[in-house]
Amino acid sequence: MRHVFAFFRRSKLEFVEKKHEKDDVYTYSFRPQRPVRQIAGQHGLFMIPGAIAVRPFSLASAPEEQLIKIGTHIGSQSTFKRALDGLQPGQHIYMQGPYLDFTFQDDERPVVMLAQGIGITPFRSMLLHAQATSRKAPTTLIHVEEKDHTYRAETEKAATKSLYPTTVDGFQKDAIKVAVGAKNAWFYLSGSPRFVKETTKLLLGQGVQKRAIKKDSFLGY
Ligand SMILES: Cc1cc2nc3c(=O)[nH]c(=O)nc-3n(C[C@H](O)[C@H](O)[C@H](O)COP(=O)(O)OP(=O)(O)OC[C@H]3O[C@@H](n4cnc5c(N)ncnc54)[C@H](O)[C@@H]3O)c2cc1C
Repeated sequence: MRHVFAFFRRSKLEFVEKKHEKDDVYTYSFRPQRPVRQIAGQHGLFMIPGAIAVRPFSLASAPEEQLIKIGTHIGSQSTFKRALDGLQPGQHIYMQGPYLDFTFQDDERPVVMLAQGIGITPFRSMLLHAQATSRKAPTTLIHVEEKDHTYRAETEKAATKSLYPTTVDGFQKDAIKVAVGAKNAWFYLSGSPRFVKETTKLLLGQGVQKRAIKKDSFLGY
């Protein structure tokens, strides 16, 4: 039922600042006009006045943080990304949601997070939340990115264990090792639709149960 209400929830956000992370990756921070009810790992639908397109983004910020943060590549220079990158402090945008259940389960089973590139955003939120609330269940993050893993300084500190492979091959080897040793875990996958599909296949091949796999497919990549 909460998802139905979330669909109609719309928040006005004031742009505060942008931070360069690496290459064409930036984090954009916004101050909500009213507190936003967010569960770590959820995404919102973002609307910028003047830009026709809307885009979903996972909230990279944890509920405990005061500013809402999204992290993205701006290299495509799409109408939406140009509008986002052109925001000036004090300007407003809108967010619908946040939505859905790419969120921690209400239990203490270990959690394995598998991220590709900018797919790290919901895991930054979940890991910082787990750290802030001293969540008991152990977390293992495997984040594959060619170099300079986005948010590494924070995720490395917050995760129980973290691995940062730089190749597909290295990622798959790490994922298999972790999957073999963590049959009781929840597996969370976040990245491009192709990454999510291939990693699901890899995990199923290692005997991971389909219902233990939760997915955030970044359509558009
Ligand atoms: C649940 C969810 C969470 C996401 N979280 C993030 C995030 O944290 N960071 C991030 O960078 N991206 C995230 N994305 C992807 C994001 O919404 C954009 O699609 C992506 O950033 C590319 O945007 P663009 O404007 O550069 O795309 P463009 O270069 O304009 O798009 C390329 C093509 O894909 C189509 N397209 C673009 N976006 C979508 C979409 N969302 N659904 C269907 N078709 C689309 C366009 O119409 C165009 O044909 C998320 C997507 C989903 C579904």
